[in-house]
Amino acid sequence: MAGVSRAIRACAATSQRTLVAASAVALPKEARVKAATVGRRGRGPEDGRRVQWAFLGCPGVGKGTYASRLSQLLGVPHIATGDLVRDALASPGPFSKKLAEIVNQGKLVSDEIIINLLSRRLEEGEEKGELGFILDGFPRTMRQAEILEGVTNIDLVINLKLREEALVARCLGRRMCSQCGENFNVASIDIEGENGGAPMYLPPLLPPPQCESKLITRADDTEEVVKNRLRVYHDLTEPVEGFYKARQKLLEFNIPGGIPESWRKLLEALNIEDSDNMRSAVA
Ligand SMILES: [Zn+2]
Repeated sequence: MAGVSRAIRACAATSQRTLVAASAVALPKEARVKAATVGRRGRGPEDGRRVQWAFLGCPGVGKGTYASRLSQLLGVPHIATGDLVRDALASPGPFSKKLAEIVNQGKLVSDEIIINLLSRRLEEGEEKGELGFILDGFPRTMRQAEILEGVTNIDLVINLKLREEALVARCLGRRMCSQCGENFNVASIDIEGENGGAPMYLPPLLPPPQCESKLITRADDTEEVVKNRLRVYHDLTEPVEGFYKARQKLLEFNIPGGIPESWRKLLEALNIEDSDNMRSAVA
């Protein structure tokens, strides 16, 4: 499995060049209407479906956390590329053998394979009556974005961004427990605001006492490797951002701090009511 995570990791990582305050983010007009509708009823207006959204952003940015919370809140599945590949590897048959070969050789899983896995997953979801989805880690390349256009309709792409210094510190702070496999982060990030902006504080995610002595660092979480990963990710993903921006579907969201604050601001930017209001509105 080490090969899988290596391959998946090689596909991702992010950087950012511009800083915009989260509150200054403008949601595309269409998306705002959609999000407002979601906030009210959790359903799209025309065809009864909910959201078809995608998240961009690297590991270290917390994309999985926000995508998963949002999918629970909106009642749609969270479809992560990494999980699709892992599931495919775990299922019997010639395809998983072929996939295992690619992954074990440390090669990148091709756009075609990823698209195939995803379209199969979306079809299955439709058959089961799923009313939308939130994609995580996809599309990662221009090619994937272009093919995806022919497969399904994406309403909104949320581009999660974190200041590079925070991102690097977060990546360098990653630890895993060698016994239970849980992930932690020992970095306590406290950086001054830029251009008169608010300072940023990201608390560490510390392990419980029983894991403390068993923490390991991934060999490739060095500053040089992390920064290189950011460059590669940026080169690959910048055109994807442009693609959705040109279609007025891109929401740039700069993570302002820790999860509670960022989650609240993200919901604000998406014009979605928080979970308590949501529950009472649905009840
Ligand atoms: Zn542990």
